[in-house]
Amino acid sequence: MAPTHGTGDRPRPRRTLGVVPTRYDVDRDALAGILADEPRYRVEQVWDGLYRQLASPSELTALPRALRARLDDDLPAALSAVSESIDGAGATVKWLFRLDGGAHIETVLMHYRDRTTVCVSTQAGCAMACGFCATGQAGFQRHLTTGEIVEQTVRAARRARDDGRRLGNVVLMGMGEPLANYDRVWPAVERAHAGLGLSARHLTLSTVGLVPGIRRLATEHLPVNLAVSLHAANDRLRDELVPINRRFPLSVLVGACADYLRAKGRRLSFEWALIDDTNDRRTDARELADLARALPLPAHVNLIPLNPTPGYPTRGTPPDGVRRFRRWLRDLGVNATVRRNRGADIDAACGQLAARARDTPLGVELRPPRAGSVTAPTR
Ligand code: SAH
Repeated sequence: MAPTHGTGDRPRPRRTLGVVPTRYDVDRDALAGILADEPRYRVEQVWDGLYRQLASPSELTALPRALRARLDDDLPAALSAVSESIDGAGATVKWLFRLDGGAHIETVLMHYRDRTTVCVSTQAGCAMACGFCATGQAGFQRHLTTGEIVEQTVRAARRARDDGRRLGNVVLMGMGEPLANYDRVWPAVERAHAGLGLSARHLTLSTVGLVPGIRRLATEHLPVNLAVSLHAANDRLRDELVPINRRFPLSVLVGACADYLRAKGRRLSFEWALIDDTNDRRTDARELADLARALPLPAHVNLIPLNPTPGYPTRGTPPDGVRRFRRWLRDLGVNATVRRNRGADIDAACGQLAARARDTPLGVELRPPRAGSVTAPTR
């Protein structure tokens, strides 16, 4: 299947990344600058079109035709959808987007019974090198711009609306390490809040544990949820599973978590990918419970049975082991939930957002869809 790109909304190549702004790079002041020769009310009109109507400038028919054309030129889209995969029931949608310069990222929209959540990427690739993560296996390509991060959210919000739902939550848990790209990620978080109207309670940033970033986050005005990818509660094992632990060991990390919690008054969560016979034993549960309870408010634990990835031989903990681990934690006074493997059929589960599209002749490689899933180039 040859990949096709959106027609009217095709991003134009830019020579210097981040120098020419894309549609969602600009804040209100920058938009006012672009609209300086227009009546003042246009700023609100265009802002409302981009963030509340979730529309592209060419769709804003209340604007004069010439202005629409100019805005389409001045504020091009940043993301070009290469494919869209939908799981059998339509509950999970995954996009593969091509960025200016050729890198690819993935974005996943998940409809649950009571809420709709988008998982967005913050970098193309990742430099953190966690061995069990497909993105970590592929290595780092580049930071995403603020506009590229916001546009993922807007695309998902629009799709949710088309599906008769409202996008309620944004999790920065896709490809990349958000705190390694702080200066571009934080304005995107603010935009999700001020532009799309999502409260901080519904915004979650997931980090491998970059302590300076956590400390900086504690100084921001928006109290976003913090999820820390722990996976091991002793330095020996964590050094191995999450290499950045050698730079920011557990005592330092947990200290920063405690300070974040004190500053924001918001319970934080630990993520724990359960790996067979590696971090799923009783001693692991005990060590984890000790760390979770060392915080001013005990951490909530999210258990994720490890999803298979090409470069990591060890499998995930089987279901009965997952249940047992959760019971151990509960007996030790720690709240734990098991995260369902949403999107596994379309390789959209945690850690599976692989940079599969790299280095193929077309720049894109689409695997044949598995039973119950649909993968199609976008039109
Ligand atoms: N870099 C950030 C966010 C992206 S990863 C972070 O580390 O938190 C999102 C979550 O998926 C992290 O908790 C990560 O450890 C987890 N993850 C990565 N690979 C996984 C896999 N193969 N199975 C299950 N979870 C995985």
